[in-house]
Amino acid sequence: MAMRKIEKMLKDMQSEGKDLSRLKLKKFQKTHHIDCKCKFCEEAMKKNDPHLRGLIEDGFKVYVGDEKKTN
Ligand SMILES: [Zn+2]
Repeated sequence: MAMRKIEKMLKDMQSEGKDLSRLKLKKFQKTHHIDCKCKFCEEAMKKNDPHLRGLIEDGFKVYVGDEKKTN
């Protein structure tokens, strides 16, 4: 279960002395390879909608606010 991994990761970050007060969590999904021929990916190809592709896994990306500066 993904939440378990996140909790562990956050604890590790905290024990490394990172400031987690500006933490951001972003969900992402990996889709099948572009050449995949499973029924999801064929359907996605027909409808020309990559969002319909088969999914490999759900995951989370963790950002700490300062690492990505926009200005
Ligand atoms: Zn596929």
